[in-house]
Amino acid sequence: MSTDDESSSPPPLGGRRSATVLAHAGLHPERFHGFVNPPLVRASTVLFESVEAMEGRTGHRYPYGLTNTPTIEALAEALTELDCAAGTVLVPSGLAAVTVAILSAVKPGCTILVPDNVYGPTRRFCDESLPALGVTTRYYDPVDPDCGGMDERSVLFMEAPGSLTFEMPDLEALVAAARAAGAATMLDNTWATPLIYRPLEHRIDIALYAGTKYFAGHSDLLIGSISANPRMWPALRRLHRNLGVQAGTEEIWLTLRGLRTMEVRLARHEENAMTVARWLAARPEVARVLHPALPADPGHRLWQRDFGRSTGLFGLVLNGSEAEARRFLNALRLFGLGYSWGGFESLAILGELRQARTVKPWTDGPVIRLHIGLEDPADLIEDLEQAFAAMTG
Ligand SMILES: *Cc1c(COP(=O)(O)O)cnc(C)c1O
Repeated sequence: MSTDDESSSPPPLGGRRSATVLAHAGLHPERFHGFVNPPLVRASTVLFESVEAMEGRTGHRYPYGLTNTPTIEALAEALTELDCAAGTVLVPSGLAAVTVAILSAVKPGCTILVPDNVYGPTRRFCDESLPALGVTTRYYDPVDPDCGGMDERSVLFMEAPGSLTFEMPDLEALVAAARAAGAATMLDNTWATPLIYRPLEHRIDIALYAGTKYFAGHSDLLIGSISANPRMWPALRRLHRNLGVQAGTEEIWLTLRGLRTMEVRLARHEENAMTVARWLAARPEVARVLHPALPADPGHRLWQRDFGRSTGLFGLVLNGSEAEARRFLNALRLFGLGYSWGGFESLAILGELRQARTVKPWTDGPVIRLHIGLEDPADLIEDLEQAFAAMTG
């Protein structure tokens, strides 16, 4: 689904719109006897024709299974094209995408700025693993950032909207401040995907993804990816090779398969989630819905400027106690209780915010995060309705 904007302004993806790129990126049937999809290549060893060929392996396209295979290449090429990047590396999880991206940019003595509403395990990595490298983490308020004190060795980490509470940061202002200081920038773009926002086109150096979510889309695998601009690509590629963290072949192949339908899946996730979010906003059991696509949301203007489309994940603040939140969640039948999101099925969790915010402690009611899947939204609403009845009854 291309927006009016995209149709009227010159399309950046080699003259093609993102849905078209999604359907064709990374495919080279001519290399595989005409078969549409690349093979799932399981490999460690690659055989060479001679010692001389082995000695010249650094220039070889496929020197070893850890480095490259036709399967790795197809997904990396597709994601590189989708984000208009210099290159993409694949890693075994979304969390690895976060940590490898950060490690590729930090230096001893530098400071990384991280939003207070960052994905929880990203915060844990910064708190527990970066001090030993001489890297200081400074948390900022995503809606009122104080990014003073950045220099060319600083790294600005962003996530939009933030985890659990879905505040929209002013990406443009943040990036402008970082660039003025010469700092490196990276965005965890898992929520929006490149179909809604292409970070590198907005002068962000690194885009990273939990491909586990919408790229793969079926709750059956873990994968991550990091795409970088020419400034950051050489260091990222070197670190990825030195760490030896490649994604698994089967995961890569399934992610390629998932990617082809991401446009239609996201459109339905968005439509269903908006239907459910609007219904929730009118319920007395809900204090407020945390979803930047709703006009009443404080982040709506920024969402409209930068995204204009949304996906299936949002939150709500319950008008009730934590015990009531537990009763509500335990009463759900169609929604599963489980971590992660981005698959075809609807999920719910209780947001654990007590220790999760250090700049601005969470003082509001209990937060429930919902992922709206591809079910009929009328059935989802019925399920929520009976769970509210069980909660208050
Ligand atoms: C899920 C998630 C991750 C981590 O992905 P995994 O594949 O589960 O490790 C990273 N960032 C965000 C924003 C996420 O939602």
